[in-house]
Amino acid sequence: MKYGIDIGHNSPPDTGARGIKFEDTLNVDVGNRVISKLQALGHEVITCNPTRSSSVRDSLSQRCNKANAARVEVFVSIHFNAFNGQANGTEVFAASDSGRRIAQPVLNEIVKLGFFNRGVKNGSHLFVLRNTNMPAILVECCFIDSQKDMNLFNAEATANAIVRGLTGKLPSVPVNSVPDEEQNIDTSVMRLQKALNRLKITDRNGKALVENNQLNTETKYAVEKFQGIVGIEKTGIVGETTWSIINQILAKRIIRPNHAGGPVVRYIQHRVGVDADGIFGPQTEAAIKRFQRQNGLLADGIIGPASWQKLIG
Ligand SMILES: [Zn+2]
Repeated sequence: MKYGIDIGHNSPPDTGARGIKFEDTLNVDVGNRVISKLQALGHEVITCNPTRSSSVRDSLSQRCNKANAARVEVFVSIHFNAFNGQANGTEVFAASDSGRRIAQPVLNEIVKLGFFNRGVKNGSHLFVLRNTNMPAILVECCFIDSQKDMNLFNAEATANAIVRGLTGKLPSVPVNSVPDEEQNIDTSVMRLQKALNRLKITDRNGKALVENNQLNTETKYAVEKFQGIVGIEKTGIVGETTWSIINQILAKRIIRPNHAGGPVVRYIQHRVGVDADGIFGPQTEAAIKRFQRQNGLLADGIIGPASWQKLIG
């Protein structure tokens, strides 16, 4: 089967909703997992979302054009909902009978994870469902501004549910067996030293830390340096905030201009040699492109897997 997978938004000025989490980030996290799982099952996948667009309408048109030109057999657009903080649950939109037949099992699988079943809904008002030529669905996995949903949400489980709903199967070998560093609960000094070395935060002599599981003055110095870079209080002590920032960086999320902000952006700014203010503006984008060119990468100004690989391995 040939699937068109459309990771919602992620194409400025077409950006997603913001709640407890950012829709764009979750769309990418779930979408990429769905893509690799479908491929592992032997399906062909066309990624329909563009990275750049001149307007929201252009972003949506490009998605449909890609799917139509590639003659995908099923089109799946992945989104998350946001409303008033109270609304929660899963809904799947379709605009044709053939679409509804695909939507129902996908919905059934996601609500098995514990989300409220909001049903298969009529999506004839949705651009990507109206303008694609094949059976198409738009999945609103759950609500990013609902604490209940965000507590329940897990990207891997959601991707598995979508793939099982679409194909009736799951790949036998987990394709995302690499653990997500953002969930890593190891707070040992050994892991700290290994992490700081990966992040290229050196001791006062510019040397990598000795990985000996001892909280010595060199390690504390490096911790303070790191805290200064990411813009938090320089205590030399690694508490919840510092660990959470370390783990966020190690999780290597895709970082895009005008979108991301905060400690991860400050860290990237430090690495590419611009003032660390935590705002991903034009200067940062230019410095990232320079870094990418110097490292033989496509200079697109987006910190994706290849750039992260160069930055922290
Ligand atoms: Zn959306």
